[in-house]
Amino acid sequence: MPVQTQCILSVKSPLGPPIEILKHIFPAQSNKPRVSFVTGLHGDELEGLYICHRLMQYLKELETTHPNAIQGEINIYPAVNPQALENSTRLWPFFSVDINRTFGPGQSPSLAVETSQALLDDLQSSSDIAIDFHSSNLHLMELPQIRIIKDFEKKLLPLAKKTNVDLIWVHPNADIFESTLGFNLNRAKIPTLVIETGICHRIHQDMGDQIFNGMLNLLHYTGTLNITPPSEKTKEPKQVQPDQVAMVQASHSGLFIKQVEVGQILKKGDKLGKLIDPVTGNVLEEITTSCSGLLFTLREHPLTHKGSPLVRIAKNLSEQ
Ligand SMILES: [Zn+2]
Repeated sequence: MPVQTQCILSVKSPLGPPIEILKHIFPAQSNKPRVSFVTGLHGDELEGLYICHRLMQYLKELETTHPNAIQGEINIYPAVNPQALENSTRLWPFFSVDINRTFGPGQSPSLAVETSQALLDDLQSSSDIAIDFHSSNLHLMELPQIRIIKDFEKKLLPLAKKTNVDLIWVHPNADIFESTLGFNLNRAKIPTLVIETGICHRIHQDMGDQIFNGMLNLLHYTGTLNITPPSEKTKEPKQVQPDQVAMVQASHSGLFIKQVEVGQILKKGDKLGKLIDPVTGNVLEEITTSCSGLLFTLREHPLTHKGSPLVRIAKNLSEQ
């Protein structure tokens, strides 16, 4: 049976056709783990849309070339916040609501909460494992990474290691996470990886392709796909705890002129960039790193205030 498309929620719109959340179902040949991919909770984050596009293309082709390859159902939710996507905004446009803060118990009723509940229910009923793709905000560029809440580490770490990301960051829980999709699926005992990559409003194909290969590797590892992934070896992600992450912040307001790129391996004392005063032309600060390690977050938006994050570095083991 080829891929089927299902509408999991339809909301009437005052203008034109209803707004629909769609899901593509690649039916399984047996009962191996069902894996779901979700993207577009934030409407200005486009990197996951590209990854899902590649997955759908690959799986559709597989249905013709290797009809027995899909051993566990694969669900792709390619744009779960269509109103925000249409407007290219992070937030649900009508009430400026962050949909990824409306999941779980204790939410006051609203259309946004109804939508997120429908999505959560659908994912819970059709997934054994889920992946939720995100990009960074306007300011910071992120190397492909997975952030894991400590409570879920045991289940998630073995899966995260298969995804070809550069970094896995294990951090303690905080209230802010409890209304996210990822937290609520994990709490419902559906292991869910939240992947963060790139920057909003952009698509970095190289990073998207890297994660696409990681997703095929993961699907092979879980037995969901029974054919060997086409790509070569996957990366061994660097694993860090919060005390192994160094953040460099701006100590002046100004323009940040970067002299590094994400993914670079830094040595203590390396130049990161400079802060300039565009009005006087003066250099306010030459910024160097006080530790060695992997540069995984970098400020792309040059305008800074005192305290603005500039880079994050996963420190080398020898310096921890
Ligand atoms: Zn996001």
